[in-house]
Amino acid sequence: MIRADGLRVEYSGAIALDGLTFEIEEPQRFAVLGRNGAGKTTLLRAMAGAVSASRGRVVWRDRKVTRPPSAMARRGMRYCPESANVFPDMSVRSNIDAALVAVPRSARRRRFTWALDNFPILAPLLDRRADKLSGGERQSLAVAAALVTRPELLLLDEPSLGLSPKMSSQIIATLRDVAREWDMTVILAEQNLALAAQLCDVGLWLETGSVQFRGTLDQLGEHLRSQHALSTSEEGSG
Ligand code: ATP
Repeated sequence: MIRADGLRVEYSGAIALDGLTFEIEEPQRFAVLGRNGAGKTTLLRAMAGAVSASRGRVVWRDRKVTRPPSAMARRGMRYCPESANVFPDMSVRSNIDAALVAVPRSARRRRFTWALDNFPILAPLLDRRADKLSGGERQSLAVAAALVTRPELLLLDEPSLGLSPKMSSQIIATLRDVAREWDMTVILAEQNLALAAQLCDVGLWLETGSVQFRGTLDQLGEHLRSQHALSTSEEGSG
């Protein structure tokens, strides 16, 4: 289980997360949803040990999450940020090899083949530098590099950013298959509810650093539709 206890995160005194308390059972595919600036990235960073709490804490499997993310990676957690998630001046092959350093030597070749089987878009690009990839190719590489370590908990920040709906759905479909097969917990930050629902059944909705709703994504869809209807009727009557 991963749990937040009164989690507050501030940037130079400005509150980005305001006393969040929740639990996420494992294994689970869980969505962190909200509009721009709601605090999704900050929440993932706090869960990954990429930013410190100014109050409260995150606890994963009875141990406090601490900085940096590489320390959490040794405990089986992997954080894939929305940008700067590959080594830009290294080839696709070297990026995957760099991730495989965390894997026992005997398994590396098998995992490398696994990455190309599951992300076939990368197969013809092995010698291309990561900064010469398209957005979709780069996100595929970032997710593949995260998955070759076989994390028990994957924190994934908006893999759909800048991608076509088709490419986003392909990445999410691969994740869904792998997560089911490995019983892996995935916590996905996403703005697009329909896309998140392709992977996750449950999640929470953040607004200005607070949890406004938690439940199934079907319930969340209903909640957002009713709020929208309320605000448009208020506008109409105002
Ligand atoms: P988006 O969907 O646009 O990526 P988000 O929901 O991921 O947004 P965050 O990036 O977590 O939101 O930002 C939450 C709040 O914290 C915003 O008000 C943002 O401006 C602020 N913020 C984020 N990072 C920093 C930073 N490094 N320094 C100062 N303020 C920051």
